[in-house]
Amino acid sequence: MFALLLLAGCATTQAEAPRKAHRDFLVLDTHLDTPLHFGRPGWSFAGHHDPATDLVQVDLERMDAGALDGGFFAIYTEQGPLNAKGYADALAFARGRSDLIDHTLAAFPNRIDFATTAADARRIDRAGLRVAFKSMENSYPLGEDLSLLREFHDRGVRLAGPVHGANNQFADSSGDTPKWNGLSPLGRTWVKEMNRLGMVIDASHASDAAFDQMLELSKSPLLLSHSSGRGAFDHPRNLDDSRIRKLAAKGGAICVSTIFLSNMNMGPERAALFSRYEHIADLSPEAQADLARRWRALDATQPIWAADFERYMAMVLHVIEVAGVDHVCFGADWDGGGGLPGIEDISALPKVTERLRAAGYSDADLAKMWGGNILRVVEAAARAASTQ
Ligand SMILES: [Zn+2]
Repeated sequence: MFALLLLAGCATTQAEAPRKAHRDFLVLDTHLDTPLHFGRPGWSFAGHHDPATDLVQVDLERMDAGALDGGFFAIYTEQGPLNAKGYADALAFARGRSDLIDHTLAAFPNRIDFATTAADARRIDRAGLRVAFKSMENSYPLGEDLSLLREFHDRGVRLAGPVHGANNQFADSSGDTPKWNGLSPLGRTWVKEMNRLGMVIDASHASDAAFDQMLELSKSPLLLSHSSGRGAFDHPRNLDDSRIRKLAAKGGAICVSTIFLSNMNMGPERAALFSRYEHIADLSPEAQADLARRWRALDATQPIWAADFERYMAMVLHVIEVAGVDHVCFGADWDGGGGLPGIEDISALPKVTERLRAAGYSDADLAKMWGGNILRVVEAAARAASTQ
């Protein structure tokens, strides 16, 4: 009994050290899909949620506990037909999602504040608040009207990717067969407009050719908000080592995800649950609980990913090895399909700090990877805009 207590005491002390070090860094995640939960009836972003029972991986309580200081809240828009009606519907959705992020977070003025610049993020963090940037996953809602990018910039969006899981009017997706062989002519103009507005280009989900063309055309460094390395797991959604080096050579950064560290087990049952999950805010509290129960039951027999925290750390170490500490950041894909056994939600982030310190990375290295590199890329985009 005594020995057990002693062991428990030791474990607590060991766990406290990395947690304290972790708390000292400005810790950001570049891809939070949490806004899909924002409208859930009976749900609050300020509550303490448990991913085991309600599927939520990020909330203010867990952010405040010292694991995550902020990140990019994504306006994710599902892709429909590439025609006027599809674009109009998507635009209405994206505007609504942007408004939802604004009014949800504005309800907690003493806990979280919006940032559009690196200086904002540092100031908000110093004030003891969490930092909210906004991003756009899939530029499909812009239709063919690039003047709309200005609207989303004015709404506070500072990071956007052209494409998601299927080809669209701007670019080929890593999940589709090539249509444009990279960017479309409109996609090339999209890059110019992103640069002109000082918005960071997010190359996650883009095909290799689209990545190459964005890297060549963009006047400011690229970010991959939630991608892993193909050198550690061979999948088209991941970036290969030679492209990671080219990204780094141009000052960009890859924010390592917890997804595609294995193939995705997306059988019909999971696919059905996933489409309900994407619209979880439309479900009653009872239906939300039912979805969570079914989701976790399926996890027990058919997990989405054949990977865990150990596999994740191997991926992180691989990407750091290839990119260097100045070009790595974190974007786990929380609330968007990310999370693995051992790294189920943001509470696990201090463990990543612990492992990286054990692997020999200094606190200066960690400060860059957890937030400094992201802010450098945000600053570079703003600077490139002002010199045009
Ligand atoms: Zn994504």
